[in-house]
Amino acid sequence: MSEEKESLSEDVKKDDDYEKICSICHRPESKAGKMIELMNQITVCQDCLQKSLQSMSSLGPESYQALMEMAKRFPNMQMIRVDVPPEVPQRQRIKKKSAQKEPKKAFDIKSIPAPHKIKASLDEYVIGQEYAKKVISVGVYNHYKRVATDTMDEIEIEKSNMLMIGPTGCGKTYLVKTLARLLDVPLAIADATSLTEAGYIGDDIESVVSKLLAAAGNDVEKAEHGIIFIDEIDKIAKKKNTNQRDVSGESVQQGMLKLLEGSDVEVPVGANSKNAMVPLETVNTRNILFICGGAFPGLEDIIKERLNKQASIGFRADLKDKYDDDPDILAKVTIEDIRRFGMIPEFIGRLPIIFAMQGMTKDMLVKILKEPKNAILKQYQKLLALDEVQLEFEDAALDAIAERALEKKTGARALRAIIEEIMLDIMYEIPKDENIGKVTITREYIEHTGGPQITLRGDLVVYG
Ligand code: ADP
Repeated sequence: MSEEKESLSEDVKKDDDYEKICSICHRPESKAGKMIELMNQITVCQDCLQKSLQSMSSLGPESYQALMEMAKRFPNMQMIRVDVPPEVPQRQRIKKKSAQKEPKKAFDIKSIPAPHKIKASLDEYVIGQEYAKKVISVGVYNHYKRVATDTMDEIEIEKSNMLMIGPTGCGKTYLVKTLARLLDVPLAIADATSLTEAGYIGDDIESVVSKLLAAAGNDVEKAEHGIIFIDEIDKIAKKKNTNQRDVSGESVQQGMLKLLEGSDVEVPVGANSKNAMVPLETVNTRNILFICGGAFPGLEDIIKERLNKQASIGFRADLKDKYDDDPDILAKVTIEDIRRFGMIPEFIGRLPIIFAMQGMTKDMLVKILKEPKNAILKQYQKLLALDEVQLEFEDAALDAIAERALEKKTGARALRAIIEEIMLDIMYEIPKDENIGKVTITREYIEHTGGPQITLRGDLVVYG
């Protein structure tokens, strides 16, 4: 009953979107003026109503009879039945012009979600990395609060640029991408290895800003509130013991300082190189959030060495190999460690928020397979559901996939390739047989020692 009511009110709502049409002259309300509603949703314009009333009053009973007779003789002549609502096909109805939507404000302090809300949204997509998600949520919140209030005057809130350290495939790029999407801000992703100082072969440093401008649809104001993610930042570390001119290392770090801090950059619109033909736009980077990420191979040893040194002094004397098997060693990183790795102090100084991400464990990989909102397994399940076939993975099969991914040492990146490989045959074979109702992927199938379990629509189980 209540459902019925709901659908009725839905209909009324839908009707509200359309103009009323005069049942006699068929003109819409926008042309014929205000409509008068009669019974059974019949509407008549004022002109027609008036005319009808006039002619009715002048008709005697004989004339009315004659009119009805005439109607019988001319089958094409239409008489309106006032007791039945007129049927106007939906496509012939004219939609009311919707009220102009207010243009979305670029940034409103009220629209910046609180850190716990940002984190809760990230939780739906990014598995684990609790600490990183917390730090990034607070950092981003503070950043946009500063942007929105423009508190750069007396008490200057420091820019919250970030440095993210974590092994490959632990979700650095994914975290930033998800964040930018949730906050609805433009994002540019650049690779530090491709950046060189202006004048050298490669993209000059400012090209990252023109990428952002492109991502913002050439809207300068939008770009100035965007995020730039520079990946593989560890690759521009200072090289040790070289006397040569260091094009891709220290000088690139130097070149980035102004950008990170905030400066006006002239960038070409619609191209990533400056030449005489391309118009230039000035973008200020003061409110652009820079997030740098890198795997920093070898950083663990630097941290361990420092910790061991501390440990061997005085009371703190400890076992020398205490930190050898510490999986969270990266979380103990300090600015000094990063400086020793080869980043220059001025550069580190402009990335005040430094945090590490965890390497992937088997449990995390299994969760990544099935839990995120757009999890890869859910995607395949949806694909097969379109053929009315149920897809299931045994827990042991998920374990086996995670184990194979771990061997590849590329973090969660390996998962997609593995799943695609095992699903290829399934996606090819299953639609061939309409009797199949369910496929269960087993550990044996992943390990190539058996087939998947196939269930026919009548609940008959067949082993593939
Ligand atoms: P990185 O930038 O750290 O090398 P990516 O962010 O490119 O790694 O991760 C590769 C892919 O792995 C992502 O596209 C995403 O699908 C998946 N992934 C990685 N980490 C996670 C995570 N913590 N939660 C969910 N998916 C993840």
